[in-house]
Amino acid sequence: MGCRFSIVNISSAIFHCSAPDLASCPDESLPEFAFIGRSNVGKSSLLNYLAGKNGLARVSPTPGFTKLINFFTMSKTWRLVDLPGYGHAHLARKDRAEFNQAVIEYLQHRPNLHCVFSLIDSGLSPQQIDLEFVEWLANNHIPFVLVFTKTDKVNPAEVQANIAAFKEHISEWCEKLPEIFTCSADSKHGRGALLGVVTEVLSSVQAEQGEEIEQSPSEEIVEEPSEPPQDAEVSSEDFLKIRQDSSGRDTRGKRPKLLRPW
Ligand code: GDP
Repeated sequence: MGCRFSIVNISSAIFHCSAPDLASCPDESLPEFAFIGRSNVGKSSLLNYLAGKNGLARVSPTPGFTKLINFFTMSKTWRLVDLPGYGHAHLARKDRAEFNQAVIEYLQHRPNLHCVFSLIDSGLSPQQIDLEFVEWLANNHIPFVLVFTKTDKVNPAEVQANIAAFKEHISEWCEKLPEIFTCSADSKHGRGALLGVVTEVLSSVQAEQGEEIEQSPSEEIVEEPSEPPQDAEVSSEDFLKIRQDSSGRDTRGKRPKLLRPW
Protein backbone atom coordinates (compact mmCIF):
# COMPACT_ATOMS: atom_id res chain seq x y z
CA MET A 1 0.00 0.00 0.00
CA GLY A 2 1.35 3.35 -0.96
CA CYS A 3 1.08 6.69 0.74
CA ARG A 4 -2.03 7.04 2.84
CA PHE A 5 -3.79 10.28 3.47
CA SER A 6 -7.27 10.74 4.61
CA ILE A 7 -10.15 13.03 3.74
CA VAL A 8 -10.29 14.53 7.19
CA ASN A 9 -13.22 16.69 6.35
CA ILE A 10 -16.44 15.71 4.68
CA SER A 11 -17.91 19.00 3.65
CA SER A 12 -21.33 17.57 2.93
CA ALA A 13 -23.16 14.27 3.10
CA ILE A 14 -26.39 14.44 1.20
CA PHE A 15 -28.93 11.72 0.50
CA HIS A 16 -29.19 11.37 -3.27
CA CYS A 17 -31.73 8.61 -3.92
CA SER A 18 -32.86 5.07 -3.20
CA ALA A 19 -32.86 2.44 -5.91
CA PRO A 20 -34.71 -0.89 -5.89
CA ASP A 21 -32.58 -2.26 -8.74
CA LEU A 22 -29.61 -1.53 -10.95
CA ALA A 23 -31.69 0.19 -13.61
CA SER A 24 -32.90 2.75 -11.06
CA CYS A 25 -29.41 3.68 -9.86
CA PRO A 26 -28.31 7.29 -10.46
CA ASP A 27 -25.90 8.40 -13.18
CA GLU A 28 -22.38 7.02 -13.06
CA SER A 29 -20.62 10.36 -12.75
CA LEU A 30 -19.10 9.86 -9.30
CA PRO A 31 -16.92 7.08 -7.89
CA GLU A 32 -18.90 4.87 -5.52
CA PHE A 33 -17.93 3.09 -2.33
CA ALA A 34 -20.40 0.50 -1.12
CA PHE A 35 -20.97 -0.79 2.40
CA ILE A 36 -22.51 -4.16 3.06
CA GLY A 37 -22.69 -6.77 5.77
CA ARG A 38 -24.94 -9.12 7.63
CA SER A 39 -27.98 -7.57 9.19
CA ASN A 40 -27.09 -6.01 12.55
CA VAL A 41 -23.37 -5.85 11.76
CA GLY A 42 -23.41 -2.15 12.67
CA LYS A 43 -23.49 -0.74 9.14
CA SER A 44 -25.86 2.16 9.80
CA SER A 45 -23.93 3.18 12.90
CA LEU A 46 -20.67 3.05 10.96
CA LEU A 47 -22.04 5.12 8.06
CA ASN A 48 -23.30 7.79 10.45
CA TYR A 49 -19.94 7.82 12.20
CA LEU A 50 -18.04 8.09 8.91
CA ALA A 51 -20.27 10.86 7.65
CA GLY A 52 -20.29 12.68 10.97
CA LYS A 53 -24.03 12.87 10.63
CA ASN A 54 -26.28 10.91 12.94
CA GLY A 55 -29.30 10.90 10.72
CA LEU A 56 -27.55 9.75 7.55
CA ALA A 57 -28.32 6.06 7.76
CA ARG A 58 -31.04 4.67 9.94
CA VAL A 59 -29.88 2.67 12.95
CA SER A 60 -32.66 0.18 13.21
CA PRO A 61 -33.48 -2.34 15.91
CA THR A 62 -35.38 -4.25 13.22
CA PRO A 63 -32.96 -6.17 11.01
CA GLY A 64 -33.73 -5.96 7.34
CA PHE A 65 -35.42 -2.59 7.41
CA THR A 66 -33.32 -1.22 4.56
CA LYS A 67 -34.29 -3.01 1.38
CA LEU A 68 -33.20 -0.39 -1.10
CA ILE A 69 -29.80 0.66 -2.35
CA ASN A 70 -29.26 4.10 -0.82
CA PHE A 71 -26.95 6.64 -2.41
CA PHE A 72 -25.37 9.55 -0.53
CA THR A 73 -23.25 12.21 -2.22
CA MET A 74 -20.21 13.00 -0.11
CA SER A 75 -18.36 16.30 -0.45
CA LYS A 76 -19.86 16.50 -3.94
CA THR A 77 -17.05 14.22 -5.15
CA TRP A 78 -17.95 10.62 -4.32
CA ARG A 79 -20.91 8.49 -3.38
CA LEU A 80 -21.36 6.39 -0.32
CA VAL A 81 -23.65 3.49 -1.17
CA ASP A 82 -25.59 1.78 1.57
CA LEU A 83 -26.43 -1.71 0.35
CA PRO A 84 -29.17 -3.83 1.93
CA GLY A 85 -27.81 -6.26 4.49
CA TYR A 86 -27.83 -9.97 3.88
CA GLY A 87 -28.78 -12.87 6.13
CA HIS A 88 -32.14 -11.79 7.50
CA ALA A 89 -33.34 -15.01 9.07
CA HIS A 90 -36.88 -13.77 9.58
CA LEU A 91 -37.52 -12.56 6.05
CA ALA A 92 -39.39 -14.57 3.51
CA ARG A 93 -37.19 -16.33 0.98
CA LYS A 94 -38.91 -14.46 -1.84
CA ASP A 95 -37.93 -11.09 -0.36
CA ARG A 96 -34.41 -12.23 0.25
CA ALA A 97 -34.00 -13.38 -3.32
CA GLU A 98 -35.38 -10.10 -4.59
CA PHE A 99 -33.02 -7.77 -2.90
CA ASN A 100 -30.10 -10.08 -3.13
CA GLN A 101 -30.55 -9.91 -6.87
CA ALA A 102 -30.47 -6.10 -6.82
CA VAL A 103 -27.28 -6.18 -4.77
CA ILE A 104 -25.71 -8.80 -6.97
CA GLU A 105 -26.47 -6.81 -10.10
CA TYR A 106 -25.18 -3.61 -8.56
CA LEU A 107 -21.95 -5.27 -7.43
CA GLN A 108 -21.36 -7.06 -10.72
CA HIS A 109 -22.34 -4.37 -13.18
CA ARG A 110 -21.91 -0.94 -11.65
CA PRO A 111 -18.98 0.52 -13.58
CA ASN A 112 -18.22 3.33 -11.13
CA LEU A 113 -18.12 1.07 -8.07
CA HIS A 114 -14.56 1.33 -6.80
CA CYS A 115 -14.53 -0.49 -3.52
CA VAL A 116 -16.83 -2.59 -1.36
CA PHE A 117 -16.41 -2.32 2.38
CA SER A 118 -17.43 -5.78 3.51
CA LEU A 119 -18.44 -5.50 7.17
CA ILE A 120 -17.90 -8.37 9.59
CA ASP A 121 -18.87 -8.42 13.28
CA SER A 122 -15.59 -8.63 15.17
CA GLY A 123 -17.32 -10.23 18.14
CA LEU A 124 -18.26 -13.37 16.24
CA SER A 125 -16.27 -16.34 15.03
CA PRO A 126 -16.33 -16.64 11.21
CA GLN A 127 -19.89 -16.97 9.97
CA GLN A 128 -20.55 -19.13 6.93
CA ILE A 129 -22.66 -16.48 5.23
CA ASP A 130 -19.88 -13.86 5.55
CA LEU A 131 -17.27 -16.29 4.27
CA GLU A 132 -19.47 -17.16 1.30
CA PHE A 133 -20.14 -13.52 0.50
CA VAL A 134 -16.45 -12.61 0.64
CA GLU A 135 -15.59 -15.58 -1.56
CA TRP A 136 -18.25 -14.46 -4.02
CA LEU A 137 -16.75 -10.94 -4.10
CA ALA A 138 -13.31 -12.35 -4.82
CA ASN A 139 -14.58 -14.79 -7.45
CA ASN A 140 -16.34 -11.94 -9.21
CA HIS A 141 -13.24 -9.72 -9.10
CA ILE A 142 -15.08 -7.06 -7.17
CA PRO A 143 -12.69 -4.76 -5.28
CA PHE A 144 -13.21 -5.04 -1.55
CA VAL A 145 -11.70 -4.57 1.88
CA LEU A 146 -12.78 -6.27 5.10
CA VAL A 147 -13.95 -4.12 7.99
CA PHE A 148 -14.38 -5.73 11.40
CA THR A 149 -17.00 -3.75 13.32
CA LYS A 150 -17.92 -3.18 16.98
CA THR A 151 -14.41 -3.77 18.28
CA ASP A 152 -15.39 -2.15 21.58
CA LYS A 153 -17.87 -4.91 22.28
CA VAL A 154 -15.48 -7.74 23.08
CA ASN A 155 -11.93 -7.73 24.40
CA PRO A 156 -9.09 -7.04 21.94
CA ALA A 157 -7.74 -10.60 22.16
CA GLU A 158 -11.09 -11.98 21.09
CA VAL A 159 -11.26 -9.50 18.20
CA GLN A 160 -7.81 -10.56 17.03
CA ALA A 161 -8.70 -14.25 17.37
CA ASN A 162 -11.86 -13.78 15.30
CA ILE A 163 -9.96 -11.85 12.63
CA ALA A 164 -7.21 -14.49 12.55
CA ALA A 165 -9.80 -17.25 12.19
CA PHE A 166 -11.53 -15.37 9.36
CA LYS A 167 -8.20 -14.86 7.58
CA GLU A 168 -7.38 -18.52 7.96
CA HIS A 169 -10.68 -19.50 6.36
CA ILE A 170 -10.33 -17.20 3.38
CA SER A 171 -6.65 -17.98 2.87
CA GLU A 172 -7.79 -21.42 1.72
CA TRP A 173 -8.96 -19.89 -1.55
CA CYS A 174 -7.55 -16.37 -1.44
CA GLU A 175 -3.98 -16.13 -2.71
CA LYS A 176 -3.43 -12.64 -1.34
CA LEU A 177 -5.47 -11.46 1.60
CA PRO A 178 -7.59 -8.33 1.24
CA GLU A 179 -6.85 -5.30 3.35
CA ILE A 180 -8.32 -5.59 6.80
CA PHE A 181 -9.59 -2.77 8.99
CA THR A 182 -11.17 -2.56 12.42
CA CYS A 183 -13.68 0.00 13.61
CA SER A 184 -16.11 0.90 16.31
CA ALA A 185 -18.85 3.45 15.84
CA ASP A 186 -19.40 3.50 19.60
CA SER A 187 -15.84 4.22 20.63
CA LYS A 188 -15.12 6.25 17.48
CA HIS A 189 -12.33 4.17 16.10
CA GLY A 190 -11.38 3.48 12.48
CA ARG A 191 -12.76 6.49 10.62
CA GLY A 192 -9.40 7.84 9.45
CA ALA A 193 -8.25 4.54 7.99
CA LEU A 194 -11.52 3.85 6.18
CA LEU A 195 -11.68 7.31 4.67
CA GLY A 196 -8.04 6.81 3.75
CA VAL A 197 -9.15 4.02 1.42
CA VAL A 198 -11.61 6.38 -0.23
CA THR A 199 -8.97 9.07 -0.60
CA GLU A 200 -6.46 6.68 -2.05
CA VAL A 201 -8.89 5.48 -4.68
CA LEU A 202 -10.06 8.98 -5.56
CA SER A 203 -6.46 10.12 -5.88
CA SER A 204 -5.72 7.21 -8.21
CA VAL A 205 -8.79 7.98 -10.28
CA GLN A 206 -7.72 11.55 -10.60
CA ALA A 207 -4.13 10.60 -11.37
CA GLU A 208 -5.35 8.29 -14.12
CA GLN A 209 -7.31 11.16 -15.54
CA GLY A 210 -4.07 13.07 -15.76
CA GLU A 211 -5.10 15.82 -13.43
CA GLU A 212 -2.83 17.40 -10.87
CA ILE A 213 -3.60 16.78 -7.26
CA GLU A 214 -3.13 19.82 -5.16
CA GLN A 215 -2.59 18.55 -1.70
CA SER A 216 -2.53 21.04 1.09
CA PRO A 217 -0.92 20.23 4.47
CA SER A 218 -4.36 20.03 6.05
CA GLU A 219 -5.15 17.03 3.88
CA GLU A 220 -2.32 14.94 5.24
CA ILE A 221 -2.75 12.01 7.56
CA VAL A 222 -4.99 12.68 10.50
CA GLU A 223 -5.86 9.50 12.34
CA GLU A 224 -8.85 9.10 14.53
CA PRO A 225 -10.29 12.57 15.04
CA SER A 226 -12.16 12.55 18.32
CA GLU A 227 -15.33 13.77 16.63
CA PRO A 228 -16.11 13.52 12.94
CA PRO A 229 -16.25 17.00 11.48
CA GLN A 230 -19.58 18.26 10.27
CA ASP A 231 -20.23 20.72 7.48
CA ALA A 232 -16.61 21.84 7.55
CA GLU A 233 -15.34 24.18 4.89
CA VAL A 234 -12.88 22.19 2.83
CA SER A 235 -11.46 22.22 -0.61
CA SER A 236 -12.07 18.54 -1.31
CA GLU A 237 -14.52 19.59 -3.99
CA ASP A 238 -11.68 21.20 -5.89
CA PHE A 239 -9.21 18.62 -4.66
CA LEU A 240 -10.95 15.80 -6.43
CA LYS A 241 -12.77 16.69 -9.60
CA ILE A 242 -14.14 13.52 -11.05
CA ARG A 243 -15.02 13.70 -14.68
CA GLN A 244 -18.10 12.05 -15.93
CA ASP A 245 -17.85 9.41 -18.56
CA SER A 246 -20.44 10.95 -20.80
CA SER A 247 -20.46 7.98 -23.13
CA GLY A 248 -22.08 5.92 -20.40
CA ARG A 249 -20.00 2.87 -21.28
CA ASP A 250 -18.49 0.46 -18.80
CA THR A 251 -15.59 2.17 -17.03
CA ARG A 252 -14.79 -0.77 -14.76
CA GLY A 253 -11.51 -1.26 -16.59
CA LYS A 254 -10.50 2.26 -15.56
CA ARG A 255 -10.36 1.37 -11.88
CA PRO A 256 -7.04 2.33 -10.37
CA LYS A 257 -4.62 -0.51 -9.91
CA LEU A 258 -4.15 -0.96 -6.18
CA LEU A 259 -2.15 -3.46 -4.22
CA ARG A 260 -5.14 -5.59 -3.43
CA PRO A 261 -5.94 -9.12 -4.48
CA TRP A 262 -8.60 -8.36 -7.05
P1 GDP B 1 -27.12 -2.55 10.79
O1 GDP B 1 -28.33 -3.40 10.89
O2 GDP B 1 -25.96 -3.31 10.22
O3 GDP B 1 -27.35 -1.23 10.10
O4 GDP B 1 -26.65 -2.23 12.29
P2 GDP B 1 -26.97 -0.98 13.22
O5 GDP B 1 -26.03 0.12 12.96
O6 GDP B 1 -28.45 -0.70 13.18
O7 GDP B 1 -26.55 -1.59 14.64
C1 GDP B 1 -27.09 -2.80 15.10
C2 GDP B 1 -26.92 -2.82 16.62
O8 GDP B 1 -25.54 -2.83 16.94
C3 GDP B 1 -27.52 -1.59 17.29
O9 GDP B 1 -28.06 -2.00 18.52
C4 GDP B 1 -26.30 -0.68 17.50
O10 GDP B 1 -26.47 0.17 18.61
C5 GDP B 1 -25.20 -1.70 17.75
N1 GDP B 1 -23.90 -1.19 17.32
C6 GDP B 1 -23.60 -0.62 16.14
N2 GDP B 1 -22.30 -0.26 16.08
C7 GDP B 1 -21.76 -0.60 17.27
C8 GDP B 1 -20.45 -0.45 17.83
O11 GDP B 1 -19.49 0.05 17.24
N3 GDP B 1 -20.28 -0.96 19.10
C9 GDP B 1 -21.29 -1.53 19.81
N4 GDP B 1 -20.99 -2.00 21.04
N5 GDP B 1 -22.53 -1.66 19.31
C10 GDP B 1 -22.77 -1.19 18.06
